[in-house]
Amino acid sequence: MSLESDLKAPADDNFNKRDGPFRGSSMRVAKPTTPAPGCFSCFTMRAKPKEREVDVILIGAGVMSATVGLMLKELEPEWKMMMFERLGAPGEESSNGFNNAGTGHAGFMEPNYTKEVKNSDGSLKTVTTDKVEHVCEQFLSSRQYWEYLTRKGLLPSPDSWIHQTNHIALGVGKDQVEFIKKRYEAMKDNPLFKSMEICLPEEKAKAKEWAPLIMKGRDPSEPICMTKVPHGTDVDYGALTKAKIVAFQELGGDLRLHTEVKDLKKGSDGKWTVTTCVNGAGSGWAYNKAKFVFVGAGGWALLMLQKAGIPEVNGYMALPVTGDWAVCQNPEVVAQHKVKVYAPGAPGAPPMSMPHLDYRTIGGKEMLLFGPFGSMTMKFLRYGSVLDAFKALKPHNILPTIGALSKNLSLAVMLMTDVFKSGAGKLHDIRHYYPEADPDDWVFIPAGVRAQIIKKDPKTGKGMLQFGTEVVSNKEGTIVGLLGASPGRLSLQ
Ligand SMILES: Cc1cc2nc3c(=O)[nH]c(=O)nc-3n(C[C@H](O)[C@H](O)[C@H](O)COP(=O)(O)OP(=O)(O)OC[C@H]3O[C@@H](n4cnc5c(N)ncnc54)[C@H](O)[C@@H]3O)c2cc1C
Repeated sequence: MSLESDLKAPADDNFNKRDGPFRGSSMRVAKPTTPAPGCFSCFTMRAKPKEREVDVILIGAGVMSATVGLMLKELEPEWKMMMFERLGAPGEESSNGFNNAGTGHAGFMEPNYTKEVKNSDGSLKTVTTDKVEHVCEQFLSSRQYWEYLTRKGLLPSPDSWIHQTNHIALGVGKDQVEFIKKRYEAMKDNPLFKSMEICLPEEKAKAKEWAPLIMKGRDPSEPICMTKVPHGTDVDYGALTKAKIVAFQELGGDLRLHTEVKDLKKGSDGKWTVTTCVNGAGSGWAYNKAKFVFVGAGGWALLMLQKAGIPEVNGYMALPVTGDWAVCQNPEVVAQHKVKVYAPGAPGAPPMSMPHLDYRTIGGKEMLLFGPFGSMTMKFLRYGSVLDAFKALKPHNILPTIGALSKNLSLAVMLMTDVFKSGAGKLHDIRHYYPEADPDDWVFIPAGVRAQIIKKDPKTGKGMLQFGTEVVSNKEGTIVGLLGASPGRLSLQ
């Protein structure tokens, strides 16, 4: 059995109890016993599709549906709500602990939230702080919300899903050292970042104390600079998702696992009919009517919104990017790196190409994750289909897609370089952070899929790739979906 399947389920995790590993197409997904209801369905179906009516339908059981569902259940306890999940447990796609980096993104260490501002001679003047402040405020709102849920007894002990972890921004080499210093200068007086400390290149003893693995065996002449924020977090988003969905059900929410949404259409009464299928004793199909639909389908949100036929999604496409983590479980090594360390990527490199060396606690198990090493896929979800990208390609998004891809060849080159990277090549990358890394301590496991947004640039009308997240809804506000790479970060996780 693989490391990943061994570690994925915490001991007390009823959702995850299973005998075999979830892997690629072996993941059990809902399959109908009969063809989809369509024009010939009257000849082929054994039984009539079930009909149900509720107030709210949530598609997917990832962290976003879990959050929206729980919030709505608290606000409107009497409303009937159903959540449909095609897999056998909540939080098994991007929200699973092994499929993301588990960083509580508060801007304490991520270099890509602060953009460089240059002097006229090309030297670094300062960095911008508007984005990093916004990200930090958003994450602090999440923490307040989680605290509220914990105090109310709707979330279990925080120790089962969130841990304090120092967040360290690392600069290696002259240019990166300059960047880390300027970033510190620009951020340190802001109350949000007041606890940030700096470790200058000459403070070698301090650097060894902050991050021993980063310093051991490193060439002493190599300039190194770090900043540290002591109240950073590592979050097991998979455990958080499952806990929220337990609370959603305790408040009366109805979760249906192994149930895939196949279609959704708006009726003349303004209500949505969401067609689901299961491998069931009856027809397997059900028509579920609701006033409001939340599309928390992760990478498949685009396909669902396209099926809904809302014009607001026209022009959007997704670029799926996946990858691998390197995982270290040697307890002696893990004990020396109870921090998360992010460093700037190569000049012009996209945000997801910036690897990091992270202390993680997933399902109660401590370990280190390094990466991700990027790679290309046609699937929009880890347990999606290789046809996802073809299905999403429509006449209205072909030109933006061509435009965005032609402008982002560097991303394709980066992904291809990582795809063909050997074990030794990956070890070389790990050793950039941890010079004495022992190859026998590291194994490679797959990460989740990020479905990056492709859309028309509102200014130029040409295709562009966007690394953030967008909320797409119809004009009546009766269907809302999240597109993009990190919807979890967009709102209250
Ligand atoms: C490599 C990587 C690293 C990341 N690192 C971080 C990080 O450090 N910090 C952070 O905050 N975020 C991070 N993210 C982003 C974060 O993981 C996601 O933003 C978040 O998990 C998305 O949650 P979601 O609920 O929208 O989607 P998901 O968790 O993907 O859930 C979608 C669910 O919908 C289900 N579904 C889809 N279609 C259907 C259908 N038709 N019928 C029924 N069910 C359906 C899926 O099976 C799935 O369970 C990372 C992502 C990746 C890939």
